[in-house]
Amino acid sequence: MDLSFKALRRSYENGKSVASVLEPLQAAQKENRHNAFITLNAVDYPDFDPSKKLSGIPIALKDNIVTKGIRTTAASKMLSNFIPPYDATVVTKLKNAGALLVGKNNLDEFAMGSSNENSAFGKVLNAHDSAYVPGGSSGGSATAVAANLCAAALGSDTGGSIRQPANYSGVVGLKPTYGRVSRYGLIAFASSLDQIGPLSHKVEDAATLLEVISGYDKNDMTSAKKEVPKFAKFCEQGVEGMRVGVPQEYFDIDVDNPHLSKGVEETIRASIVALEKAGAIIEKVSLPHTSYAVATYYLIATAESSSNLSRFDGVRFGHRSSSAQTLDELYQKSRSEGFGEEVKRRIMLGTYVLSAGFYDAYYRKAQRVRTLITRDFEEVFQEVDMLLTPVTPSPAFRFGEKSEDPLQMYLEDIFTISCNLAGLPGMSIPFGESEAGLPIGVQLLSPWWEEGRLFQAGRQLELSRGVE
Ligand code: GLN
Repeated sequence: MDLSFKALRRSYENGKSVASVLEPLQAAQKENRHNAFITLNAVDYPDFDPSKKLSGIPIALKDNIVTKGIRTTAASKMLSNFIPPYDATVVTKLKNAGALLVGKNNLDEFAMGSSNENSAFGKVLNAHDSAYVPGGSSGGSATAVAANLCAAALGSDTGGSIRQPANYSGVVGLKPTYGRVSRYGLIAFASSLDQIGPLSHKVEDAATLLEVISGYDKNDMTSAKKEVPKFAKFCEQGVEGMRVGVPQEYFDIDVDNPHLSKGVEETIRASIVALEKAGAIIEKVSLPHTSYAVATYYLIATAESSSNLSRFDGVRFGHRSSSAQTLDELYQKSRSEGFGEEVKRRIMLGTYVLSAGFYDAYYRKAQRVRTLITRDFEEVFQEVDMLLTPVTPSPAFRFGEKSEDPLQMYLEDIFTISCNLAGLPGMSIPFGESEAGLPIGVQLLSPWWEEGRLFQAGRQLELSRGVE
C-alpha cells in the first residue's frame, strides 16, 4: 500500500474508508515484528473530512512525546507506567489536523543513543535487514515508516536522532530550526539542542507535517514568534541557480575519526551530479571547527541532561524503589533501578563537567566552541544557500558492533551534531544503497528558518531518483 499523504488522500476521496486503510496497518503494528512500537493506541475509524489536512493519516509518535491518557515511557524503566495528564503541543496540533495517532515508538532510553540498543523495551530491528541497527534514537519511528506501519512519524533530534535513523532506514527525516516547533511535552534530553520533527516516506509529507506542527507556543519559552510558510509549495520550485556548498571537512575527516565508506562517498557524488544537472551551482566551502563538534556536543548535551533528569527522583513521578529506608536511599535506589547504563553514564559525565572545579575547563569552554561552530555556518551561508553533506560516515552497522565502545558510538554523530549546536534546520533524504543493500542518504543543511530550501532540493533529489 502506498502510504504517502497524497496517495492516502486520493483513496479517501475515491470513497475508500478509513477503516479499510487502518485495519491491515493495525494488524501489522500488533504483530510488531521489528519492535518499533512500545504502546499501541486504540484509534477508532472516523469519517474522512476533506477540510482537514491530515484527515485519516496514520501517524506514530516517538515515545518521548507525551500523550494524554496514553502511556509515555521514553523507553525507560523509570517511566514504564507513566500516563501523562496532558498532550504535547505537537500532539494537539496533529489531532486538530485530523491525524490518527496510532501508537508510541520505541527509542533509545531518553533519546540517548545512535542504534536503539539502549531501550528498556528491547532493540528495534532495521526494516531492511534485521541483523542491522535501525539507527537512533528515533529508531522505532524510522522503522515504523520504513516498514510501512504508518504514513509518517514524529521523532526528536538532539544530535541527529531524526536524520541518522532516517538515513539507516531509507526514509526522509527533518530536524527543523531550533524554536520552530514547540518542545512543550517533549521529555527533555538537552533543552538547547532538542527539536521535534517528522520522519516520512516523501519530502512533501515532511513539508506538510512541518506546516502542521510549527508555530509559536506560549508554553515553550524558546519557541519563536515566526510566521509559518506554506512549506509544501517549496517542493515544486526546483533548484535552478541555487548555490550548494560542499564542506571539505566532511570529506577529509581526521585521524581519530572514521573515514567515509565507499557507498556513502558514491552516494554523495551522485547527489551532487543530480543537483548540478537540475541547475544548482556546487561550491567547495569550509567549516573549520567541524572536528570539535563531537566533543562539544557531548559536554553540553550531558551537562543539560544531568540537570533535566534530576526531576526523576522517585518522589514526583517515575519509578520509586520499594526497598529504601531513608530519603537519600529513596533517591539513590529509585534512580539506580530506574535508569539504564547509558543514561547513568551521561548523568555522571554531565554532573562532572558542571562541577565547581571543572565548569570552566569543560562546560564554559564547550559553550565558546559552540559559538565558533555557529559562526562557521554564519559565514558559509554568506556564500551559499545550502550545504550538502553525508549523514553518517557509513550505512547502518550490525547489532553489537559499537555498543561495547561508547566513543565509537558517539562518533556516529560527527556529521549531524553541528546542526543542533548551531540550531540550524537539516534533512536526511534517501539517495543510494550500500553493497549489502542498505539505504544511504544525504544531508542538506540550510540557514535558520529556511527549511523551504531543504524541501526544494530534497524534492529535486527525489525526482532525479524517479520518485513519483
Ligand atoms: N546519538 C546522539 C546521542 O546519543 C543524538 C541523540 C539525539 O539526537 N537524541 O546523544
